[in-house]
Amino acid sequence: MRVFVTGGAGFIGSAVVRHLVLQKGYDVLNVDKLTYAGTLTSLTSVDGNPLYRFLKADICDARAMAEAFESFKPDRVMHLAAESHVDRSITGARDFVETNVLGTFTLLESARAYWQGLDVEAKDAFRFLHVSTDEVYGSLGDDGLFEETTPYDPSSPYSASKAASDHLAKAWQRTYGLPVVVSNCSNNYGPFHFPEKLIPLMILSALEGKPLPVYGNGINIRDWLFVEDHARALDIIAERGRVGETYNVGGRNERRNIDVVMRICSILDGIYPDRSPHGKLVTYVQDRPGHDARYAIDATKLETELGWKAIENFDTGIEKTVRWYLENEWWWAPLRRKYDGNRLGVLNSAN
Ligand code: NAD
Repeated sequence: MRVFVTGGAGFIGSAVVRHLVLQKGYDVLNVDKLTYAGTLTSLTSVDGNPLYRFLKADICDARAMAEAFESFKPDRVMHLAAESHVDRSITGARDFVETNVLGTFTLLESARAYWQGLDVEAKDAFRFLHVSTDEVYGSLGDDGLFEETTPYDPSSPYSASKAASDHLAKAWQRTYGLPVVVSNCSNNYGPFHFPEKLIPLMILSALEGKPLPVYGNGINIRDWLFVEDHARALDIIAERGRVGETYNVGGRNERRNIDVVMRICSILDGIYPDRSPHGKLVTYVQDRPGHDARYAIDATKLETELGWKAIENFDTGIEKTVRWYLENEWWWAPLRRKYDGNRLGVLNSAN
């Protein structure tokens, strides 16, 4: 199996690459532009493995994508490359439109040209998995869950750009017959998560005794999934998902942001009792504009049709994550040094 992964140097993409190479024994081409969010240090475990290769390229570059398809000859595409940080999309939406919308368009066109040249059997077996977010569905009230049929209602420039890319992917299936499957997942957390995102930011700031900035009153709810459970789900969806279908991915782990932060603090209290309580570092900051109140995923279709189930619950996953950050300063310290300043420590996205 030859898998063309985009965004494989990012948080989820690197978990997908590690899963495909180390657990599944697949040939993987990782195509990544290496923006600030991409780091090859997340892939040291596959570096040098003959099954793995890396191409530094922009998915907006049609020629580079065409050449990559023709030389690698994939059986499958897993498209994760994106601008992914909501706060950055609010202050600078252009990169989001370029990569998430135009980049996805360019990749779909390159995939289509390559796919059309395959023989009938390979054409049938080919899959293009478009990886997306539950944020395209907008915000939930106190009740209900996002289902695959929930109408799109994105709030941020990030989610609007992802919604647009989902529509493009589905249109390429309906119009051209490209075998596209779409996945929409809830918030991920786990090892190798870029230090600007909520959970790593809180762990690292608490370790350094810095304020823990929480948006608004901290009651916004997210549905957390351990990244390795997501990587497994994506492999299963690419393998057995029905063409033209959408699969929601989530671990039924709804938590208020403030409860996530306090859970991290209580784990650190247990490890460093002399510095406790870490919860005293919590500082409420002005809410994000357009901040969605609640996300929660109904993953029944993925569970019943494709047999996937999350292994980690939030308590086991967050404990593993905190310990991973404590043991892997070599990974996060250079990123934190490079990107500290106005963004880190002030903004905190739960996305
Ligand atoms: P990330 O920001 O950690 O990684 C994105 C990767 O894409 C980086 O390695 C970056 O260098 C690369 N990239 C960006 N622009 C590119 C371009 N023009 N060409 C090539 N590569 C480019 O993101 P993530 O959190 O790993 O998310 C991966 C995918 O999963 C995204 O599509 C995101 O929308 C989706 N998703 C994320 C979450 C989450 O909680 N993080 C949840 C659901 C869905």
